[in-house]
Amino acid sequence: MAERIPCAREGCGNTVLPATAAKTGGICMPCKQEIEREERRRYIEANRRDVNLYEGISDPVEILSIMHTDQPRDPLIYYLPYERSKEQVYLSLSEQEQLRMADLAMEMIQDGDGDTGTEILTLLSGYHDLPLTAYLPELLEYEVYYPAILFRSASPSLRDQLLREVETDDEHRNHLLLMLAYIGDERVVRQFREWRQSPPAWRDRLHVPPEHYAMEGGWELTAEGTRRDLFIQPSYALFRVREQGNAAAFEHGGPVRMLAVNSACCPWCNGPLTTLIDLDAGHPALAGLSWKADRFAARTCVVCSCYGTVYMEIDEQGEPVWSEHNVMPYRAGEMDTDDYDGSFTAVTDQFRIAREPRHPFHGSEWAMEPSLSQIGGHPGWVQDAEYPNCPCCSARMKAVGQLDWGMVEEYGEGMYYIFACEPCGMTAVSYQQS
Ligand SMILES: [Zn+2]
Ligand SMILES: [Zn+2]
Ligand SMILES: [Zn+2]
Repeated sequence: MAERIPCAREGCGNTVLPATAAKTGGICMPCKQEIEREERRRYIEANRRDVNLYEGISDPVEILSIMHTDQPRDPLIYYLPYERSKEQVYLSLSEQEQLRMADLAMEMIQDGDGDTGTEILTLLSGYHDLPLTAYLPELLEYEVYYPAILFRSASPSLRDQLLREVETDDEHRNHLLLMLAYIGDERVVRQFREWRQSPPAWRDRLHVPPEHYAMEGGWELTAEGTRRDLFIQPSYALFRVREQGNAAAFEHGGPVRMLAVNSACCPWCNGPLTTLIDLDAGHPALAGLSWKADRFAARTCVVCSCYGTVYMEIDEQGEPVWSEHNVMPYRAGEMDTDDYDGSFTAVTDQFRIAREPRHPFHGSEWAMEPSLSQIGGHPGWVQDAEYPNCPCCSARMKAVGQLDWGMVEEYGEGMYYIFACEPCGMTAVSYQQS
């Protein structure tokens, strides 16, 4: 066997067979590959060009249609992002432009791109509350059952069709029940009530009783068989102004106290409690909440609420205090507090609350990446809808807001959900992540 010789590249300790060396000019294969990668990188850097697909285009429908189109991947092209976010462009659409967007979405669905088409319709419905009534029968013909929120604006005749199909369509029953939950009108409430009184034959094929689907639509069927809404309206976005001294962005919103670290400690992990949000109870964002203190403050342990719901009561001064009803969601020593570094305390003065409300379903489709943090509005569940019960009176608590942790910390993820029981003055915070 031929004797191996050292790689000719300086600093490399590998040896190569003479046959390889003859092919590579005396260097080892890893070195050869590294040099080629480096050459390739330099070539891309020197030859890559910026491409602005939005150059000279002012029609927002055209801009959005480009945003929704995947460009072929080419390392020699850098696609310049548009100056505004997709969400901002959607919000700028006139009524006429919204309808053009909806038509474009239907064309995509007809051409087989159901994913993009339904995404566009969902965003129009969430950001503008655009009624999709006229489009829904055709959506069903194309077997679009998801996201169910699209069917919120179903006509009475389509609703009746869904009520018939749910009895027989085993395959789509789950989606059909979700659609009915979002419709949530008197007819649906009556049907849910009847199903509760006499469960249908297909009940056993569901994980929960059919009337529990109501919660996915943001309401519950009360013991009396009526509809009770489980989130407050309207919705006010909470946002963060990242750039220092961006006065214009700051003016866009009003002051809000967020993420203040409290002197009280969590009795479970001994970490400090954090007030996720602290807002005057008279703020228009809380118009849908009758609160017995001057301020609404949602305080929690940001570590422990990732493991289970944390409840707080208000004392006589209106101050939130740890509730005796709390039940530790893990066994002592089972929990890892390393995740907590409290770095968010450095950015607490960067948050603002929008001056104008937005539509109540704006932040409700988590997967479509709208701006999620809000006071009021339908929750953007990462998992299934989960409204905690008040440990004091056992009524289901109302969603008051949510905080997207991705907005707070650079590598943050998941969402904190804030709930309240008005008569008891109880708040709750829970958490979901993907
Ligand atoms: Zn080498
Ligand atoms: Zn804790
Ligand atoms: Zn209660």
